[in-house]
Amino acid sequence: MDAKLRPKPEIMIAGAGIIGLSLALELQTRGFQVTVLERNTALQHASTAAAGMLAAKDPHNPPALLPFSHFSLSLYPAFLQRIESLSGLSVPFQTDTTIQYMPDGSTQQLAEHSVDPRQLAAALLAAVRATSIDLREHTELRFVTEDNQAQLHAETNNGTFTPDKIIHTQGAWAHPQVRPAKGQMLRVQLPATLPLCEVHRSEHIYVVPRTQGPQAGTALIGATVEDAGFDTVVHPVGLAHLRTLAAELLPQLADETTAPQVEAWAGLRPATADSLPLLGSLSPGQFIATGHFRNGILLAPATATIMADLIEGKSSAIDVAPFSPARFDTA
Ligand SMILES: Cc1cc2nc3c(=O)[nH]c(=O)nc-3n(C[C@H](O)[C@H](O)[C@H](O)COP(=O)(O)OP(=O)(O)OC[C@H]3O[C@@H](n4cnc5c(N)ncnc54)[C@H](O)[C@@H]3O)c2cc1C
Repeated sequence: MDAKLRPKPEIMIAGAGIIGLSLALELQTRGFQVTVLERNTALQHASTAAAGMLAAKDPHNPPALLPFSHFSLSLYPAFLQRIESLSGLSVPFQTDTTIQYMPDGSTQQLAEHSVDPRQLAAALLAAVRATSIDLREHTELRFVTEDNQAQLHAETNNGTFTPDKIIHTQGAWAHPQVRPAKGQMLRVQLPATLPLCEVHRSEHIYVVPRTQGPQAGTALIGATVEDAGFDTVVHPVGLAHLRTLAAELLPQLADETTAPQVEAWAGLRPATADSLPLLGSLSPGQFIATGHFRNGILLAPATATIMADLIEGKSSAIDVAPFSPARFDTA
């Protein structure tokens, strides 16, 4: 058959976090038939636990992440525009500036945005639902086998699927080389004397104000980075520690009477041993995109583009060798 007439491969994506759904949207736009499996409900894990900083300029990010981060940042306006045109929901930038507190006591003013991941999640999900993407919630990918015709069989609690390709985007649950890094966070009401409109961040703590939408006038204080398995319980001692650190940057946040807590939660970041993502192929039919650790909201648009290019056999806009899953084979 003429290659142009041949139907594009059917793609299955396992895991409906921001990575899985951003990739689903990109592949669907490029003409692929996409099914997404989600064992719970979409966007309920790390992707809605995040602060939403697009922290490409954070000096504490691994240097190898820099080109990837800047590429993703360059894609963000079009990413949000595509989501808005499909969903009718706009996702505003909440902040445009970050004050970075350096270890030597100096500060830097960075031109950097943040979004509200819950707003982004609602819009992304509505965008996905406005397309032909087949999102199947409460459907867990249990294991994958390949028969002697190289056909993949994806076994789930809701039957067997036979896609042409499978992309694993199950976040902290995606791969043996990925471990959960627990992050506890709290949201506080800002005092009238502290009308923040910029992020304040050091190596150990950040304060991220919400300036637009239903949470305007509040700020997130986060986040712990803990090796606690898959535990997502919030502990008062963890929150108290975050407040103490935040008060070193903004003293008014120390006090529950001036900055009362609105809510608190914990999420599981997908982390690798070198804090870099896992992007690439695991076998001819299976791919992985996870391990985005502290930057999955920032890195979602570039991940979608790079993985879709890989599926289409196109070369990547940036060097993805540092993110190859094969780097752990020899480790
Ligand atoms: C406290 C905190 C603060 C953060 N702050 C920021 C920030 O400011 N900026 C930033 O860029 N990033 C931030 N992050 C990181 C970011 O949230 C993550 O990197 C990103 O959300 C990872 O997305 P994901 O889609 O890979 O994972 P997830 O959102 O966890 O999605 C994975 C999905 O896979 C599903 N799943 C698992 N196993 C299966 C299976 N077998 N079958 C089907 N489905 C399955 C899960 O149910 C889940 O829905 C933060 C994270 C935390 C926890």
